[in-house]
Amino acid sequence: MSGPFKRLETQVVHAGDPRPRIDGAVEIPIFQSATYEYRGEARYDDVRYLRLNNTPTQLALQAKIAALEGAQSALVTASGMAAITTTLLTVLTAGDHLLAQSCLYGGTHDFVTREFAGLGLSADFIDADRPETWRAQLKPNTRAVYVEAMTNPLLEVADLSAVVEFARAHRLLTIIDNTFASPVNYRPIAAGFDLSIHSATKYLNGHSDIVAGVVSGSQALIERIRHKANYLGGSLDPHAAFLVNRGLKTLVLRVRYQNESTLRLAQFLESHPAVNAVHYAGLASHPRHERARRLFAGFGGVLSFELQGGAERADEFASRVQIPAVAPSLGGVHTLLTRPATTSHSGLAPEDRRRLGISDGLLRLSVGVEATEDLLEDFAQALR
Ligand SMILES: *Cc1c(COP(=O)(O)O)cnc(C)c1O
Repeated sequence: MSGPFKRLETQVVHAGDPRPRIDGAVEIPIFQSATYEYRGEARYDDVRYLRLNNTPTQLALQAKIAALEGAQSALVTASGMAAITTTLLTVLTAGDHLLAQSCLYGGTHDFVTREFAGLGLSADFIDADRPETWRAQLKPNTRAVYVEAMTNPLLEVADLSAVVEFARAHRLLTIIDNTFASPVNYRPIAAGFDLSIHSATKYLNGHSDIVAGVVSGSQALIERIRHKANYLGGSLDPHAAFLVNRGLKTLVLRVRYQNESTLRLAQFLESHPAVNAVHYAGLASHPRHERARRLFAGFGGVLSFELQGGAERADEFASRVQIPAVAPSLGGVHTLLTRPATTSHSGLAPEDRRRLGISDGLLRLSVGVEATEDLLEDFAQALR
């Protein structure tokens, strides 16, 4: 359903909605029904049943996200991790090898490092910034490359164009976790990736009130992933699907505002004498600023920074700010602050964290949609 819905701002509101409207309702209703009357469906995957990801509220959301991603098809799942694990378990089978970016989201990293061997799968981690090193890590059984749009918590930007070129040359499938960028800032399918995954818990839903995930790509690939998902069972409840659909309507407004607000906060922090370092690709000082400018329409709503004085100062700062909640997760309307050494990366040994550049005093900020001036004033008082 592209037709008149050409641009992202229009698609987030209209794409995927049933036409004609159901009983004239301008909003897609929540179809809270587990099962539907049999209409002669021939294949199991076509039987209309909630777990099989083919009921009206799920289908409307899938069609909307496919439009936003510029993909033929999309599958929504019960969480971002359900999308990630189901996708990997579909495209890889026993004996296959994966090349993955070295600084992955914690859950993905643990799945690859702890579960792969038992499934007969293997993986190697690549330095996504150094394409000249990848060829040496290629094996005859390498099937796919898995990367993230921006890494957590240091906001590194891999050479994503080189990833696509390398994969084409070696006939590998490309998978990207596009959560941090959102379709507003990066459209991986147009850039040549085969599959784009989101934790819809973050920007797509945007309100920190549900968990959900999505994977988008070609009709043929998504059909295979859907078939696997129908066994594994991580399907999205209609009420949660309705909420993601509702959250998406303001995605463009939220993310563009968050892009602007985060850049101003990054500039403020960078110029403050109590701050040692700021990691944000929108800053001219970021080592991959030029690359990020080429790839992305905006630099996103997450930054990280280090205060002088390490962990103790960081905790003191976190206890003084009044607007941000001190909580993990990101991408919502509320500004959230965390110290990765105690949350997302607490499972790593201190020396491993240091090797990755994640100091004990590093703070990660997910900027919400509050007034930028209020956040700036709050940060200034907390730093005094
Ligand atoms: C949160 C997150 C996930 C996991 O998503 P859930 O919805 O919590 O399962 C995966 N990747 C990234 C980059 C994330 O931020």
